[in-house]
Amino acid sequence: MLLLNPGPVTLTERVRNSLLQTDLCHRESEFFDLQEEARTRLVEVYGLDPQQWQAVLMTGSGTAAVESMTAALVPQNGKLLVVENGVYGERIAQIATQYGIAHETLKHGWMDAPDLAQIAARLDADKSFTHVAVIHHETTTGRLNDIAALGAICRARGLRLLVDGVSSFGAEAIDFADASLDAVAATANKCLHGVPGASFVIVRRAALARAASRTYYLDLGRLARLQDQRNTPFTPSVHAYYALVEALRELADEGGWHARHARYAALAEQVRAGLAARGMASVLPAEQSSVVLRAYRLPDGIGYPQLHDALKARGFVIYAGQGGLSAELFRISTMGNIHAADIERLLDGFSELMR
Ligand SMILES: *Cc1c(COP(=O)(O)O)cnc(C)c1O
Repeated sequence: MLLLNPGPVTLTERVRNSLLQTDLCHRESEFFDLQEEARTRLVEVYGLDPQQWQAVLMTGSGTAAVESMTAALVPQNGKLLVVENGVYGERIAQIATQYGIAHETLKHGWMDAPDLAQIAARLDADKSFTHVAVIHHETTTGRLNDIAALGAICRARGLRLLVDGVSSFGAEAIDFADASLDAVAATANKCLHGVPGASFVIVRRAALARAASRTYYLDLGRLARLQDQRNTPFTPSVHAYYALVEALRELADEGGWHARHARYAALAEQVRAGLAARGMASVLPAEQSSVVLRAYRLPDGIGYPQLHDALKARGFVIYAGQGGLSAELFRISTMGNIHAADIERLLDGFSELMR
């Protein structure tokens, strides 16, 4: 079965085999070597200066990292503006509500790009804002939000930017040189090609120094402190760490995030062109989309369940639209161990189905 959903991904044999290594106690030095390699390699993915940035690992899915980042990095007297244009932006607002973090949400239509003029106006109208949170790749629709433009807005106002990069880290450009950027939350099992269970925040050390402690298990500051001491507060998902480290070695061997971006871009274009030729248009123009995942209009007369089941019978798992979008569109991700020949077979499957 090939997974064309946005994580977990189809594993390479190299990463799959890494799960079969020796049993490891998380209080032994071998585990801390593994933890350190994961943290070091994560900082290296975007060539970051370890004096300024650090990777903080946790056990949990991508949402754990987003929650940990949000709960820690908006200080007690801070105020967050959440830029929402899909499910994951909505989720950050829900996290802020849950923790009692002062925040406002700027809601956009889920097909729309963030309205930069409106964001700037909202920030100018209320000087108590200290932080802005945004989704880099809004997986709801495949839209790549312009975090560089948002960073410029934040820099001009001395505000800090928090990014959910769960479905972009490792495959899309992220400008860590942006002085407003404080943190990016992400996971092992999307563009990095690991398995679910390990997630992380790449955080600016200066921001960590000011972190709030609102949560027990996901306390980013505490996790960072203990990991810096070759320690861990709880039992981590050891096997997921094995896979993460192997996936990071593989990413480096394959040429790093630029190479992964190029590979995904070719696959996404192959899917787009192939589906367009079969009468299924992509929902967003390519220049507004990520290379990771795209959304497409369902063909006339075929509902998502029928499409899903027919493709599953041919060995492919595709993904529904989220919420109200499920009746209109479907999504195809090309993360993971997916190659051009797989996409050819997928498109053949669509052809048979349309007949
Ligand atoms: C997948 C994803 C998440 C996290 O989802 P989990 O199910 O917790 O892994 C968060 N944000 C975005 C943009 C995502 O694509």
